[in-house]
Amino acid sequence: MIRLHDTLTREKREFIPLNRERITMYVCGPTVYGRAHIGNARPAVVFDTLARLVRHEFGGKSLVYARNVTDVDDKIIAAAEAEGVEPSVITERFERHYLDDMGALGVRPPDIAPHATQEIPAMVAMIQRLIEHGNAYEAQGHVLFSVLSDPDYGVLSKRDREAMIAGARVEIAPYKRDPADFVLWKPSAEEVIGWDSPWGRGRPGWHVECSAMIERHLGETIDIHGGGLDLIFPHHENEIAQSRCAHGGLPLARYWVHNGFVDMGSEKMSKSLGNIITPAELLAQGHKGETLRLALLSAHYRQPLPWTEALIAQAKAILDRLYRASGESEASEVDEGVLEALRDDLNTPLALSRLSALEGRALKASANLLGLLQHSADEWFRGGVLTDVTLQATGVLTRTRESVDRLIAERAAAKKNRDFANADRIRDELKAEGIVLEDGPNGTTWRRE
Ligand SMILES: [Zn+2]
Repeated sequence: MIRLHDTLTREKREFIPLNRERITMYVCGPTVYGRAHIGNARPAVVFDTLARLVRHEFGGKSLVYARNVTDVDDKIIAAAEAEGVEPSVITERFERHYLDDMGALGVRPPDIAPHATQEIPAMVAMIQRLIEHGNAYEAQGHVLFSVLSDPDYGVLSKRDREAMIAGARVEIAPYKRDPADFVLWKPSAEEVIGWDSPWGRGRPGWHVECSAMIERHLGETIDIHGGGLDLIFPHHENEIAQSRCAHGGLPLARYWVHNGFVDMGSEKMSKSLGNIITPAELLAQGHKGETLRLALLSAHYRQPLPWTEALIAQAKAILDRLYRASGESEASEVDEGVLEALRDDLNTPLALSRLSALEGRALKASANLLGLLQHSADEWFRGGVLTDVTLQATGVLTRTRESVDRLIAERAAAKKNRDFANADRIRDELKAEGIVLEDGPNGTTWRRE
């Protein structure tokens, strides 16, 4: 049994799909006008891992996973103008980069990747229905969703009206009946990309894109809707309002799953703050995709993840150890302890700590479920990765990682037997060599001073 934390009910609930043969999951995908950063990679990795778990539990063909590509947007139009090219030149380039970068992190492509520019008729049809139902209105070439027409508006973010207006950073525009109303359709100037519609030539707003694509590809009510925390308001709130009002009150999604931010220092990593680091840069520095994936899975998905050099180094050390312990074995059954951790709201830190107790075939299969140990040990250690033995010979390491791990295991056993004198002796011995042990909720880790 999988349990998932649902943002709508603010509870961890047993995951019961509507139809076990066709479980539906939708995750808001990239707006393709620039290279994805590590913060953008987190939902891709988290929901890829959830997809692997659902398929393990319900069967390989049980899940239909859709992730959209936003290929019409004002930022895309601006990037195309700056380069003097068609928007499609920008979107095709950055979609290819996105798939390459995520592929390097072991993210499998979704089953369906709808593109906004290919789905305009579905969006126009949904907007028309919203107008007919009295939930949207036309004004000066725009169509707006009327927030006051939907008494349940705010159900996901649970914000009051003032906070919603402030949070949406809405423009006070003369064509809006209410400042909280949001755009479903807007006019395009002649030189700008646009489509004919009952309201003149224009283009869709971002929110209606997801509602229309979900309806067309997955259905009126889906099982899981995912994305980053920052999408709760206004994007997902608006998706809920549009879909529910278009579908006679049917819920859009049965479980709303949101991942936390990747932080740089004390700030969220974001393009607008200019504090981003991309998987492409990290890969170019020689880090392996699997190392970045493990780093992204090292915190629980709902928690913030501080991105540091130490985090990457630790992820690499863990993978070196796992590759050594797995040897060249073939995958077999996934370990129950690892599964139990993942079934509990995708507790990847616990699953990773349980992996470290495994070896051989069970380790390989369990790590594979997390998208890890996808290479042979031989491949992993070749490819320019220095061995501990080499590092020791050159004086970089005082002892090999295995021997540190062995002492950590000895110390854990001593503590379990309440032999604290011995446990402290091991800690002090390592400290004297400049190796600091840190006890955390998921076991003991170590770092060099
Ligand atoms: Zn969306």
